[in-house]
Amino acid sequence: MTTMRALRMTEWESDPVASEVPVPEPTGSEVLVEVAAAGLCRTDLHIMSASAGAYPYTLPFTLGHESAGRVAALGPEASGVEVGDPVVVYARWGCGACWQCANGRDNACVRTPHGPHGAGLGHDGGLAEYLLVPSARYLVPAAGLDPVRAAPLADAALTSYHAVKLSLEQLHAESTAVVIGVGGLGHMAVQVLKAITRARIVAVDVRDAALEMARAAGAGVTLPADGLSAHDVRAETDPDGANVVIDFVGNSATLALAAGSVAQGGDVTFVGRGGGELRVAPGLIPYETTVRMPTWGTVAELAEVVALATDGKIHSEAEVYEFDDAVNAYGKLRQGEVLGRAVVLPARARRSSPAHAH
Ligand SMILES: [Zn+2]
Ligand SMILES: [Zn+2]
Repeated sequence: MTTMRALRMTEWESDPVASEVPVPEPTGSEVLVEVAAAGLCRTDLHIMSASAGAYPYTLPFTLGHESAGRVAALGPEASGVEVGDPVVVYARWGCGACWQCANGRDNACVRTPHGPHGAGLGHDGGLAEYLLVPSARYLVPAAGLDPVRAAPLADAALTSYHAVKLSLEQLHAESTAVVIGVGGLGHMAVQVLKAITRARIVAVDVRDAALEMARAAGAGVTLPADGLSAHDVRAETDPDGANVVIDFVGNSATLALAAGSVAQGGDVTFVGRGGGELRVAPGLIPYETTVRMPTWGTVAELAEVVALATDGKIHSEAEVYEFDDAVNAYGKLRQGEVLGRAVVLPARARRSSPAHAH
C-alpha cells in the first residue's frame, strides 16, 4: 500500500499530528488531487482548541481547506477534468440535494448547518500529498497560477469576495468601505474592493505591517486599531458613517466599532469568528442597516476569484512553510505573526513509481 504524510487532528484541544496514512484511491465520481500547496486558516485554530462535541466532526481527519494542485487520478465515473489539470479545490462541500445546494450554494447547505463540512473540515483535507475530492464540480481550473498563490483563493479570497459582492449596490464611487482586520482574509478583501468597486477603502488593524500591506493593496486610509473609536472612523470616512463595514475579526470590540461606524442604510458584514456578539436593536445600530453573516462563497464565485487572480487583479501575499514546519506556522498564526497567508508545501515521499514522479 502506498502511504503519504498528512497533518491530522487526532484529539480535540490539541495540535495536529504528522501521521503516515494510505494514499486514497478514487472511486465513483471522486477525483484525487496531488496537492502542491495548502493554506492555513484561523478556522483550523478554532478546530484545534475546540472541545469534543463543539464541531460535528469525527476524528481523525487531515486539516487543510485551502488547496491547490494537479489532478492525479479519476474515479471510473468522474468527468470534467483530466489527469494533470492544475486546479484549486472548493472545500465547502454541501449535501448536493437541498434547495441551497441545487442553486450552487453549497456554502449555505441547510443540511450541514452546524459548522462547515468539506476538505479539512471533518473530511481529509489538503495538508497531505494527496486530497480526495468527491466530485470534479468542486475543482476550479487554475492554469498559469503559482499554487502558493492559488491555494489561498479557496477560502481567504473566496470568502472576502463573497462578502464584498453581497454589498456591491452600496459600493459606488462616492461610498466608503471599512475593512476591520487585515489578515489572511482582510488583505484579500482590500484587493477585491479595489478590483471590483470604486469605493474608498479604509483599513483597520492592530499591526503596522498589516496596515502597510493594506496601503500597498489599495486602502486609501489606514487606522491603527489600538484605542480607535467609531468617532475616529467617522472622522476619516464621513460624519454619516461608512456605507459598508466588513469585520474580519469578529470580537466584541470590533463588532461595536462596526456598529458605531456604519452609516444609516449601510451594511455591517460579520465574517471573523472572534467570539464576539453583535446586538441588533434600535439605538444600537442605525436604522435601515443590513447585518450579514456570510460564510465562504459559491463554486461559481471561486471561478470568478481565480479569474481575478489570473488577470493579476488580486494577489495573495504568502509566507511559505515546509510540511515539517506546519505546526510552528499555526503557532505564528495564533500569535498574529503571519503577514498575509501562511501556505504549507506538502511532504513529498521519495518514491520512484511513475505516478508520483516529478
Ligand atoms: Zn478558512
Ligand atoms: Zn445541501
